[in-house]
Amino acid sequence: MEQINILTQNGLKVTKPRVTILNILEHVNKPLTAEEIYLKLQKIDKSINLSTVYRVLEVFIKNQIITKPFIKDDNKASFIINHHEHKHFLICSKCQKMVEIGECPFKTFEKSLEKETNFTITNHRFELFGICPNCK
Ligand SMILES: [Zn+2]
Ligand SMILES: [Zn+2]
Repeated sequence: MEQINILTQNGLKVTKPRVTILNILEHVNKPLTAEEIYLKLQKIDKSINLSTVYRVLEVFIKNQIITKPFIKDDNKASFIINHHEHKHFLICSKCQKMVEIGECPFKTFEKSLEKETNFTITNHRFELFGICPNCK
């Protein structure tokens, strides 16, 4: 199972809460808060409590298995799987639906900025916010 591979590749013990939470996060197309993950968990396995969810998320963040892509309006952190690929998203600020942007628009810009500043640019973050067709 892919979830178990992710855990073992990161040197993490395979536990039921970890596998279940990873599984949930891999099958959603929007970031989830700890509470939203917990609610989904309740339908699968009632033995996992909210503090376990927080602990698991903390471990996942530390190991960069998941990331916090942005802060929602209510300031609660939400989480998505970190695919380790270079991607940008257009995010609906009402329902948090995410749409992938095909191509990174910064490649040329980064090169000229490196020349200008003498920095070696290693990464960037870029997210676009808007209202999706469903929420209009
Ligand atoms: Zn929406
Ligand atoms: Zn980019």
